[in-house]
Amino acid sequence: MSRKINKILDYGKYPIYIPKCPFCPGNEFMTNDDILTIAKKEGSKNWDLRIIPNNKPILNIETALKKEVDGIYDKIDGIGAHEIL
Ligand SMILES: [Zn+2]
Repeated sequence: MSRKINKILDYGKYPIYIPKCPFCPGNEFMTNDDILTIAKKEGSKNWDLRIIPNNKPILNIETALKKEVDGIYDKIDGIGAHEIL
């Protein structure tokens, strides 16, 4: 695991469980399927970090780049993935 991910995982334990919160462990059914789940203990059902696609993404990887010239400026639409960690 990278040092950056370890730093995120070491942030602390989950202080509270909120039944209606889609990001609390145990409420995974409230979110999109995960892209990646990381658990400190290999094979553990208790995850430490989940990455899920945003259900209302601002950016999209399937979008064609739209370029526009505005005076001395060039404008290009944003492109990319919008995920939640
Ligand atoms: Zn929560």
